[in-house]
Amino acid sequence: MGLLDRAGARLTARPEEAEILVVNTCSFIDTAKQESVDTILEMARHKTEGRASKLIVAGCLVERYRDEIRKNIPEVDAVVGTGELESILEAAGIAPPAPAAPSPFTILSGPAQVRPGREAESGVHSHAHAIENSPKGRPEGDHREQQGRFSRNDWLGAAHLLPTYLYNEDTPRLLSTGRTSAYIKIAEGCDHPCTFCVIPNLRGKFRSRRFESVVAEAQRLVASGVQEITLIGQDTTCYGEDLGLKDGLATLLDALARIDSLRWLRFLYAYPNRITGKLLETIALHDNICKYLDVPLQHASPDVLKRMKRGAGADIFLKTLEKVRAAVPGIALRTSFIVGFPGESPRDVELLEQFIKEARFDWLGVFNYSDEEGSRAFALDSKLPKRTIESRKRRLMKLQQSISRKARQQWIGRELVLLAEGESEETELLWEGRTQYHAPEIDGKVYINDFGDLETLEAGRFYKAQITEAHDYDVVARVVSGPL
Ligand code: SF4
Repeated sequence: MGLLDRAGARLTARPEEAEILVVNTCSFIDTAKQESVDTILEMARHKTEGRASKLIVAGCLVERYRDEIRKNIPEVDAVVGTGELESILEAAGIAPPAPAAPSPFTILSGPAQVRPGREAESGVHSHAHAIENSPKGRPEGDHREQQGRFSRNDWLGAAHLLPTYLYNEDTPRLLSTGRTSAYIKIAEGCDHPCTFCVIPNLRGKFRSRRFESVVAEAQRLVASGVQEITLIGQDTTCYGEDLGLKDGLATLLDALARIDSLRWLRFLYAYPNRITGKLLETIALHDNICKYLDVPLQHASPDVLKRMKRGAGADIFLKTLEKVRAAVPGIALRTSFIVGFPGESPRDVELLEQFIKEARFDWLGVFNYSDEEGSRAFALDSKLPKRTIESRKRRLMKLQQSISRKARQQWIGRELVLLAEGESEETELLWEGRTQYHAPEIDGKVYINDFGDLETLEAGRFYKAQITEAHDYDVVARVVSGPL
């Protein structure tokens, strides 16, 4: 979006208005592939029946089915994989602007805003940096590559070269997350061998962005008004290993937390055995690092975890959680599990249930196993029927519901800092917001039904609020003071 915007394209979220349609896709599990294909077909109709003259498909689906997309959906004019983002201008038939000084971030506010053309502005000069910015990766990644970890041989019509691309601080960006919050990708790819997962095959080997590049981007974002930064990557806890940094993520968080006016800083996601003492110390040390940790554990039965090639089990995980809670009192913990992995027995599910009861996560997601060609698990026997998987998922979610309800009830009466996000989608009588214990768009909600002495609230501003009611996942709050 940043590249297109900087080259003078006027962006719209309304497909009926667009001349060029771009569908950015996902393809790591069945439901994501389905959603991507449905959207491409819907946009293809806009091309045949509406004013659009070009349809571009970008993202992970292209990495997996490059030739298939072109062959089976003739309305598609160009494809852009995750490793060739900068060819979006060529695909769109838009000339890149002449090189000039980089300009600040552009914020796209509201889903349907049409922006004016900006032919006079320019500043794309990220090609050279993209190369300079691609480090060589870790020996672990090379080793896994030799073992066939990143192979795409099972994917007919896939792009053959693994992506190596990383953006940098000069790559133009268009924020679609409003003025206050922004994501920063600090690393790309993954070297872990999890047998159910094809993300490494899609995204390539683990590689970190340069430390200075991330800090420069964060500084610029904060200078432009951003107050919440969420660092992302497939495995943020490996950050910097390929750059020779020890405790890279902790060092990065420490540097970013010192940026004036940055109110909330968090990262997604932590690999369980990479949560170091130094990382926890750093989270505890800075007030503006959210007391929030998302650590996807995938399962708790040692047998299943072994077959997932992740290792560990309930006992080890409970010790890790104890260490986290002791180092960062009051921290909110989120995890996700995969249910229905091949060969998962009723006993494995009981172990998982027992673990969920003992671990008392604040937030928890349960996902059905998705059998993905190209993953090691695809070749395993003892696949479970969809019905069994679905009922196991329901059972686990029901258990978590009661744990979550009790945890939310303990919030009643507490005064917390709240980021107001806007009117509730359900009713204009309520507003919605988040605390540091809620990551954007993932966890439960805070509904605000009382503005205190204020006439109204302002989206993107922070307030002090008191929690007055608790439901299963969501809570209700009353504004006490602010904006802060
Ligand atoms: S660590 Fe995450 S992204 Fe990497 S292989 Fe495992 S599940 Fe996939």
